[in-house]
Amino acid sequence: MKAGTLPMLFGQTVTALHCVGIGGMGLGPLAIYLAGRGFVVSGEDDAMTDGMRAQLISAGIVITSAGAVPDNARLVVCSSAITPAHPAAIAAKTRGLPVVRRGELLAEVTRDRKLVAVCGSHGKTSTTAMLITALRVAGFPAGYVLGGLFNAGTVPPACAGSNDWVVAEIDESDGTIGRFNPEITVTVNLDWDHPDHYRRQEDLEAAFGALFARTRGAVLVSEVCAMSGKVAAAAAARITFGSTGDYRAEIISDRDGEIELELAGRFSAGRATVRAFGGFNAINATAALAAAHLMGVTVAPDRLLAAYPGVRRRQAVLLATKTMTVIEDYAHHPAEIRALLGSLRQRTGGRLVVVFQPHRYSRTAQFKAGFADALALSDAVYLIDVYGAGEVPLAGGSTADVCVELKRVAPNLSVIYHRGDHTRTLEMLTRDRQAGDLVAFVGAGDIDVMARDWLKAVDAEYWDKAVEALRAVVSGETQVKREESLARKTTIGIGGAARIYAEPAGVKDLQALVSEAKSLALSVIALGRGSNLIVPDEGVDAVVISLRQPAWEVFEPRAGGHVWVGAGLRLKNLCGLAAKAGLVGFEFLEGIPGNLGGALRMNAGAMGGWMFDVVEEVQAMTFGGEIRTWKKADMHVDYRHCAELHDTIALGALLRPASKSEAGEIARQIDVYKEKRQKSQPREPSAGCIFKNPPGDSAGRLIDVSGLKGERVGDAEVSATHANFIVNRGHASAAEVIELVRRVRAQVEQAKGVLLEPEVLLYGKNWKDVL
Ligand SMILES: Cc1cc2nc3c(=O)[nH]c(=O)nc-3n(C[C@H](O)[C@H](O)[C@H](O)COP(=O)(O)OP(=O)(O)OC[C@H]3O[C@@H](n4cnc5c(N)ncnc54)[C@H](O)[C@@H]3O)c2cc1C
Repeated sequence: MKAGTLPMLFGQTVTALHCVGIGGMGLGPLAIYLAGRGFVVSGEDDAMTDGMRAQLISAGIVITSAGAVPDNARLVVCSSAITPAHPAAIAAKTRGLPVVRRGELLAEVTRDRKLVAVCGSHGKTSTTAMLITALRVAGFPAGYVLGGLFNAGTVPPACAGSNDWVVAEIDESDGTIGRFNPEITVTVNLDWDHPDHYRRQEDLEAAFGALFARTRGAVLVSEVCAMSGKVAAAAAARITFGSTGDYRAEIISDRDGEIELELAGRFSAGRATVRAFGGFNAINATAALAAAHLMGVTVAPDRLLAAYPGVRRRQAVLLATKTMTVIEDYAHHPAEIRALLGSLRQRTGGRLVVVFQPHRYSRTAQFKAGFADALALSDAVYLIDVYGAGEVPLAGGSTADVCVELKRVAPNLSVIYHRGDHTRTLEMLTRDRQAGDLVAFVGAGDIDVMARDWLKAVDAEYWDKAVEALRAVVSGETQVKREESLARKTTIGIGGAARIYAEPAGVKDLQALVSEAKSLALSVIALGRGSNLIVPDEGVDAVVISLRQPAWEVFEPRAGGHVWVGAGLRLKNLCGLAAKAGLVGFEFLEGIPGNLGGALRMNAGAMGGWMFDVVEEVQAMTFGGEIRTWKKADMHVDYRHCAELHDTIALGALLRPASKSEAGEIARQIDVYKEKRQKSQPREPSAGCIFKNPPGDSAGRLIDVSGLKGERVGDAEVSATHANFIVNRGHASAAEVIELVRRVRAQVEQAKGVLLEPEVLLYGKNWKDVL
């Protein structure tokens, strides 16, 4: 949208505005939405997560230092944590700039849209995120503003959209709810909270009653929530959802992080798969699918939430190994904690251990008995001091008060609390942990940071022990390293470290490594020359095995004119050695920068030839240490894929030359291919072709005609030489490449109606989880 078409804000023409507290989950996404609507947006925050910073930068928002309100800003918006003494608030006052709150600005900027307001006490962020996911999957281009970040960092938390709808999570905590006039209001549930603002339950009910009365269309409320039923009773267009009601969904199964729902009522009958767990998420999903239907989405709901990426800090699984699961959740009201712990209890056969940080003194004073009742559902509790969120301590509202209540309701429960010393409390957690524990870090304060720091320390200890165990089973010639950088082992030069990296000296050591890794429940993953990989910035939680030692580089002529080649031999050397021996048929491999193992796994191809054209049989080791040999005819091979090498490590292959010829002639053919390649491919570091060619077309052509050559995110750039290559212009990160992949896919789909699938691999992960 051009600056000239910007909506008026508070009766003024504003083109540029400044956001104070832009790193927060409320203001950050709103800033991104505003930038998408065409405003020039800047912002500042003294505590910002990397995830939010990346999203803001990607939206073109300028991050300034504290109090540096840009000269062109005509409006300042502050998060609720900002006091009038903040340097930016003082600067705004000095310059006479209006200062508004997040809710006020959100209401103002969505006034010219059909607003779907998602509100309620518990689960509104998840419900909003599910609704956004459903709309995106259905291709319904509504704008949206989430109050959090998606787990898949590549899905932005806000988008301006291209129709007249906008979905936004609205917050009742500071009274700005009174500013909204929605088209549809979705109320997940109601429960008395925010006693600092709503002194009595009736005050909260009155605020929602007024919102329902101002809603132009449907008021969607839960069938089972008594308070929302009561408040919505007077609403003319009241529609209900739940296991009974107008939109009905019944849980058929809830396992392995996936819920299956049976739909009825105003949903056309059928099922829906939701990638989440727990009864509360089934309700959130029902509300989201009902809202999508009311907005006019006609696509069947069965798969709309099948790839729901989840929201950060909502049942986020930080670790899931055979010995321990660690979850982090934002729950900060007794009802939320009870629902969370109830569903976690069903997920684990081991102990349910909870680390809880109460949020706000006022809430703790009001609900300490409720917190104790909910926490009593666990097997052990570790308490952290209250996160004040700007409040001053309040008598009766401390963690010590929760501790007293907890000891009263559950005298036999193990409760650990060291006032003012959370480090000591977490040391106790480390000391006491048992195999099979499910540890849940719960709260809305900075407990997410504590969870990650704790996990890092525990995790480091875990991998340190594992590396020692692996070193103990191999010979001195085998290298086993901890936190080895993988960026230098890839052609694009990007990515984090392998938690453990090994270069086995031979078959015996490889066998020992994979067997020991299996007994320690560690994942194993092979690495070739890293020429078809994007290694994530956070690295790989696995034992990475590279066949770089001489034992794996053999080239041995065998009977019948065949040749046995080790999986570690580089394709360039294979080509050269074959040419020298007068063996024809391998020339097409010249210029593919992998080794034989990687080329087998990817069924690499060029100049009309495929790797498996010249394969007779393949030998591989399973992750259990067993050696297997397959004839080519028994293998399942297709475009850039070999099924048998998915969970095995290729050791070598028997190759079959096409014929014999004179070495000079073969070398001449290699030179022809080399020249062709040099003319058509970029020289900058890359990971080869990013996308698979769709049937009957070329991905490079589609990207080119979609006008994407030169498109750039940070230092990642679509090559101007060959549009199906993303090149690293210097210091590109994996996050930048992923963002560029997402952008290219979306724009090619929009321009040409073709959804490209990545050819390059996201090492140790699945593209599905990030796109
Ligand atoms: C400039 C450039 C040009 C390229 N041109 C082409 C081309 O023309 N045609 C083409 O097909 N590709 C091309 N590629 C992509 C890439 O070179 C090929 O896919 C190559 O086969 C990958 O081999 P690698 O050893 O680098 O494997 P890696 O990238 O290291 O790994 C790829 C996959 O193979 C697995 N793997 C590695 N070794 C083994 C093993 N021993 N056993 C089992 N699995 C293993 C890995 O786990 C991973 O899943 C190009 C890449 C670049 C950078």
